[in-house]
Amino acid sequence: MTNPNAVVTDTQSAIAMAFTATVNTSSLYPTNSSCNITLFSRNKFPITKSSIETTVTGAGKTIAWVEAMRASSPTRNSSEDTEANKNLWIMKHPSALGMFEEIMSAAKMKQVVIFLDYDGTLSPIVENPDHAYMDPQMREVVKNVAKYFPTAIVSGRCRAKVYNFVRLSELYYAGSHGMDIKGPSSRKHQQGNQNVLCQPAKDFLPMMNEVYKILTEKTKDIRGSNVENNKFCLSVHYRCVEEQSWSDLADRVKSVLKDYPKLKLTQGRMVLEIRPTIKWDKGNAIEFLMESLGYSNSKDVLPIYIGDDRTDEDAFKVLRKRGQGFGILVSKLPKETDAVYSLREPFEVMYFLQRLVTWKRSIMRNH
Ligand SMILES: [Mg+2]
Repeated sequence: MTNPNAVVTDTQSAIAMAFTATVNTSSLYPTNSSCNITLFSRNKFPITKSSIETTVTGAGKTIAWVEAMRASSPTRNSSEDTEANKNLWIMKHPSALGMFEEIMSAAKMKQVVIFLDYDGTLSPIVENPDHAYMDPQMREVVKNVAKYFPTAIVSGRCRAKVYNFVRLSELYYAGSHGMDIKGPSSRKHQQGNQNVLCQPAKDFLPMMNEVYKILTEKTKDIRGSNVENNKFCLSVHYRCVEEQSWSDLADRVKSVLKDYPKLKLTQGRMVLEIRPTIKWDKGNAIEFLMESLGYSNSKDVLPIYIGDDRTDEDAFKVLRKRGQGFGILVSKLPKETDAVYSLREPFEVMYFLQRLVTWKRSIMRNH
């Protein structure tokens, strides 16, 4: 249920709450719902938020917390993901490349809109998040995609940072998990609002900067940890932290947040994330963008969202709820997801996008 106030309120509830995207009401965008975030277990299929909540007492607290951190590792040992489970999962979420013809038949006579996560989708996950560069070939493909389809990058990173990686002015950018949205500075063929700008958590900026400084100080002696200021989202990366220090890191982050009940803690792929408690996530961001593009009530639109992260599930859910378009999860391993299709890695994403461009060009040639 909705909790309009604090999210991380005390140490006892912090772990459970950290995985609960409990929501607040924003004066700008009042919504009254909560997100169901699921956790990915090492073995077979994900454990759910509720199962985490039942294990957060005593020693189980740390175990559940560290287990969830371990499970989000892209380099985890996959030996427990049996072939049978993988096959079952791929039947449920078939490759978007293998199903390309089916996807395109749904796109006929419709305006395709493309939403793309950045890390792990357009760029590989690397040890230093500052070095998550985009391959020039991928940039070229995304540039071509944007010639034919409205295209948005939806990332947990701050907008300026993700723009510096992508460097394509014709795209929409939704940074800080959609809390900082800006339209393209150049665009030819698009209807709707070109100068879209949305910052639903603007009032939180001074607090975010303050907490960034405190977190940086509190975690500086944990080797490999890295606090990144993504404007409306602080990211504590632990992909370079030794596993025995993960619970210490998590405890320090939680102790800081005890003094900031208007911030919530969630977990992404090898990253702990601190965000304002307003109900605004990647799902809200794509709804906002669809509306800005003039497609909020259109039946002639096919949104496609490609992402690899737990936070992308909010967007997948929105597409399912709309009954429009498809979510595509980028993952080599079985994960519980609301995406319809899957791709294994950024290279496959590039190939899929290239096929999309080729498909569009062939349609235009034939008309
Ligand atoms: Mg990602």
